[in-house]
Amino acid sequence: MEFVATQSIEDHLQVDTYKKMPIAIERGEGSFVWTSDGEKYLDLYGGHAVCATGHSHPHVVSAVKDQAEKLMFYSNLVYSTIRARAAELLLSKAPAGIDRVFFCNSGTEANENAMRIARMHTGRLNIVSFKGGFHGRTADSISATFLGNYRQIGRPNVPGHISARFGDIESVYAAADEETAAIIIEPIQSMAGVAEAEPRFFIALREFCDERGIVLIFDEVQTGVGRTGSWFFSGSENAGGVVPDILTLAKSLGSGVPVGACLVTSEVAKGIKVNDLGTTFGGGMIAMAAVAATLEAIENDGMMANALAVESCLRRSLASVKGIVGVRGKGCLLGIEFDRPCAEVHQRSLSEKIITGTSSDPNVLRLLPPLCVPIGEVERFVEVLSA
Ligand code: PLP
Repeated sequence: MEFVATQSIEDHLQVDTYKKMPIAIERGEGSFVWTSDGEKYLDLYGGHAVCATGHSHPHVVSAVKDQAEKLMFYSNLVYSTIRARAAELLLSKAPAGIDRVFFCNSGTEANENAMRIARMHTGRLNIVSFKGGFHGRTADSISATFLGNYRQIGRPNVPGHISARFGDIESVYAAADEETAAIIIEPIQSMAGVAEAEPRFFIALREFCDERGIVLIFDEVQTGVGRTGSWFFSGSENAGGVVPDILTLAKSLGSGVPVGACLVTSEVAKGIKVNDLGTTFGGGMIAMAAVAATLEAIENDGMMANALAVESCLRRSLASVKGIVGVRGKGCLLGIEFDRPCAEVHQRSLSEKIITGTSSDPNVLRLLPPLCVPIGEVERFVEVLSA
């Protein structure tokens, strides 16, 4: 079908909620996608941080195909070899102390369940989150999202959500009280323009949560699954070694097959009883095959080391480019800050057949490429940017 026909049908039949780029993507391989007109694009946006293993990674495709031929789905009311394997593999990568998993379908659902687990564990109701963080669009997650007009969109908000300032521990002390069940934090605030906090902030958060019996939740929907150069932000040097009580995942976890997860310490998981949590599709066989194969592909192809090489390459080569103020972020979660709004750069890159992302900071261009993006392609992007 011609692009204009596809565009016209989608624009007429879908609710008008997404601002789309004027291309229809039909096929992908590694860090590239091809449009319906046969044009090849370099994808530095990774389908919004989802396609960490690159597009249609052969190992993931074959695992999903094999599983689909064997059994597409059965619910959590039976045991499953592939679910057991995915859980074992995922938890083997998690920082010490995190040893239980609840599978669900998306990032917002993972965060809803994380907050519910925290309320059950503490018997308290309130949640502290941070200005600039994004946690999803269902009721509790959107109520924890103090960014733009999300809480307005999500009205009436779930009661008991209080905001603190990202990176400012004094504001956390002021926001939390004896009714605080959890502190939820997006450890690198991606949508806000790839904002970072110092490791000592995470250390202070951990100490405060321990003192007060508050559950610490890291929303690793974007930072998790190797994107920042280690399996998780939790427990890494960037976090000052801090391990939360719960970490949530989605996006990259299934290489494009929808899946989310809450990873929990056994201490916090202890209070969860039969029927407290649940979801029909969570832990489904296709998703579990995708999770196991995604983790294997990242490990076997050395993608986390490549993610760090991408960051170094961009930091080094953009340091002297006129109009660029700095590079933020870690690994393949990066923000390039310009001295003026970057909408034009985004458009120009697209016309050079390179897909990039924007953020809620108009001066920050966001890159969320596949972790396997070749360094040579990153250098080509730098040349386009410099020009
Ligand atoms: N948390 C973070 C940090 C995200 O970036 C997102 C989505 O962009 C979500 C949660 C929500 O995930 P989902 O869209 O899968 O519900």
